[in-house]
Amino acid sequence: MDIRKRLETDLKEVVGRLRQMGGSAALEELLGPGEHWAYADEVDEIQANERREIGFATRELLVERVNRITAALDRLNDGEYGTCVECSEKIAPARLRALPEVQTCVRCQDRLERRGRQLELEPVEVEAGVDDD
Ligand SMILES: [Zn+2]
Repeated sequence: MDIRKRLETDLKEVVGRLRQMGGSAALEELLGPGEHWAYADEVDEIQANERREIGFATRELLVERVNRITAALDRLNDGEYGTCVECSEKIAPARLRALPEVQTCVRCQDRLERRGRQLELEPVEVEAGVDDD
């Protein structure tokens, strides 16, 4: 499995889609640090104000994906690819084949997602136990 090729292909595709959405100048900085992406939004705001509404959520996702893929390529260069960033266990090869840019094992992903969901669904209600007379 040539994971590097796969990641680079994915990266090219995602970058291509981002480029179609505008902000190509900022995209030239793509392989730099993630901070550059903050400017992409500002550039787009000026260039395509009305398209922003539609593209914003999608672009956020694509930018996130680009960051994940570039991180995976970095990890590949460092020889850390395929190791879970959370628990340092090996990530299952089948998982890497399905999601080459993944950085966590199934167990950690599961835990993180559950934590995320809990935050999202945080109840507004008052803590139980106020019913004492
Ligand atoms: Zn893990």
